[in-house]
Amino acid sequence: PEPVVEPEAAAPAAKPAARAGEASTARPAAPGAAPRARTPVAEDEAPRGRKGGVPKAPPAPKATKGGEDRRRGRLTVTKALAGDEERTRSVASFKRRMQRLQGKGQSAEREKISREVIIPETITIQELANRMAERAVDVIRLLMKQGEMYKITDTIDADTAQLVAEEMGHTVKRVAESDVEEGLFAAADTDDRLESRPPVVTIMGHVDHGKTSLLDAIRKTNVVAGEAGGITQHIGAYQVASPSGGRISFIDTPGHAAFTAMRARGAKVTDIVVLVVAADDGVMPQTVEAISHAKAAGVPMIVAINKIDKPSANPQRVRTELLQHDVQVESMGGDTLEFEVSAVTRAGLDELLEGLALQAEILDLKANPERAAEGTVVEAKLDRGRGPVATVLVQRGTLKTGDIIVAGSEWGRVRALVSDVGEQVREAGPSVPVEVLGFNGTPEAGDRVAVVENEARAREVTEYRARQKRERASARASGSTRSLADMMRDLKEGAGRKEMPLVVKGDVQGSVEAIQGALEKIGNDEVAARVIHAGVGGITESDVTLAEASGAVVLGFNVRAHKEAREAAERVGVEVRYYNIIYDLVDDIRAVMSGMLPPQLREERLGEAEILEVFAVSKVGKVAGCRVQDGVVQRGAHVRLIRDKIVIHEGKLSQLKRFKDDAREVVAGQECGMAFENYQDMRKGDAIECYLVHEVRRTL
Ligand code: GDP
Ligand code: MG
Repeated sequence: PEPVVEPEAAAPAAKPAARAGEASTARPAAPGAAPRARTPVAEDEAPRGRKGGVPKAPPAPKATKGGEDRRRGRLTVTKALAGDEERTRSVASFKRRMQRLQGKGQSAEREKISREVIIPETITIQELANRMAERAVDVIRLLMKQGEMYKITDTIDADTAQLVAEEMGHTVKRVAESDVEEGLFAAADTDDRLESRPPVVTIMGHVDHGKTSLLDAIRKTNVVAGEAGGITQHIGAYQVASPSGGRISFIDTPGHAAFTAMRARGAKVTDIVVLVVAADDGVMPQTVEAISHAKAAGVPMIVAINKIDKPSANPQRVRTELLQHDVQVESMGGDTLEFEVSAVTRAGLDELLEGLALQAEILDLKANPERAAEGTVVEAKLDRGRGPVATVLVQRGTLKTGDIIVAGSEWGRVRALVSDVGEQVREAGPSVPVEVLGFNGTPEAGDRVAVVENEARAREVTEYRARQKRERASARASGSTRSLADMMRDLKEGAGRKEMPLVVKGDVQGSVEAIQGALEKIGNDEVAARVIHAGVGGITESDVTLAEASGAVVLGFNVRAHKEAREAAERVGVEVRYYNIIYDLVDDIRAVMSGMLPPQLREERLGEAEILEVFAVSKVGKVAGCRVQDGVVQRGAHVRLIRDKIVIHEGKLSQLKRFKDDAREVVAGQECGMAFENYQDMRKGDAIECYLVHEVRRTL
């Protein structure tokens, strides 16, 4: 069949190539060639007085006339534009042209052109073939050699596409749609340009322990002297001077929810966490949460023991309670700085600020101010008069008015920058919070801000992100949340020891500890459970954000999720599971972790058949007429095609027929027809071995 197929397939391939490549050269060639062919006839042959010369000459003008007539009859753009020569195109010249084109087509096939092929994350066979200027049939054939069957419309992944392209002698350039984001956030600052920058501090702690009061107190104490009215406005972040002169930036949206929400979106803003614990109340559930959040983010912590002005204050109790949660303060021999403060009397605030400055010095925070700015949106709102207003904490470089910026799926040109004391400023350097006016829409807290070179780029990036956002939303709407199953898959993809992050909430400390202990025991050197936060009480929004940021599942033991938490979990797609029996919980997790172990495959031989004859059946393809030698063959079972004791093909049966009917099973001694899934090359005398594959799950 080969020689029959080849020219047929080659012709359509050659034609478009010729049309594209030749269009410009073929036409000018024709006018040049045509007169040359005509003039010798008219000038050379007539004078020579050959017998046929004279009769031949008169027909020439006739042909010309006829050509003109024809042109008048059917006037096309080509004809109208072409010169007189167009008339002389005869059947013969058309044939010559076709020959020439075919010749070209063949030689192009022989001397191969290596191209740089751009390969996105997924591509259809057809498109890949087009980009390589190869025939799709050849691509399919190549994939078939690798034992995989595809249709021309099938989509393959970038890795497979790359293999194919390289196999066919092309070079590959891999691109992802997300490449539009490339270069948005530049590589790390170079050393020689680095200058130290103020630390960025977030205050966390249990409700009513005085976070807001402390932020206000710090701000009032250190607001630029002489400013009337003190605080002019709340912009979500502010900067104060430490007593020794250094500056410190505070994020004015207290609480670990905001903190981790930002982290969940990939923004690392905070350099230091201040953990506020009321001296009269001690360590409370949200204190523990805050500790987990800070630890999960790997951010150093400073403890502020607040409300020491109160008679009932017992700072020592706070210190010992913190010990139970792995926080060792300095006065207890640990290395976590702690300060006794009062937001009301402002006692100890200077010391706290000095402590922050000291901690910042240890962290040696640096950034290059002389470059395009990068930062994070701390807060954003739609202001009636001013339009979208975003508080941006600049992290690197300097943000200037007039810059074109992108944040999340929004962009804009910086119209004005307003400082934390309400003054318009021209620019803002590293660790400086500013209100940015000029966004076209309201970005979200946690969105990273980057300066881009022009509006086109800004649009490109934000459109891509908006598209992604929509896709994610629709994926979520279709009920896909981050489930244990997803997690299992993610973990399967990871290398080394796979860890399963978990957030555990229980009704009493005893059960939480028991669960933690039991979870630690399951697992081996391949898989393990990791409890990133465990606590007593209902499942809160902060548990959900923590789980989201760490890709964890939340387990509730005899507790339920608050309404807000439930909604948040649905929104961000975090799975929350409830239990009231510890063994159920542990069994579930063990099952998931067992699932993370690759299964063992076991084969069960069913029988063997011999091919007596091979038939070609239209639509189905090749069907092997066989006799079952021993055992049975079953439809849908795995099969192996064996020729001369060599396995030629492994796959599945697509059809099993007994006479004209579909059969589920054919036993030894009987004859049957078999067709393979995606495989045609069976021959008379081949043996077909039929077997089942059992997946044996491994368990922990
Ligand atoms: P937040 O929920 O952590 O933001 O706590 P708030 O700042 O709203 O404070 C809760 C309550 O504690 C308020 O009534 C404050 O006045 C009070 N408070 C805060 N700090 C102190 C303090 O240092 N001493 C005293 N006596 N009360 C304080
Ligand atoms: Mg508050």
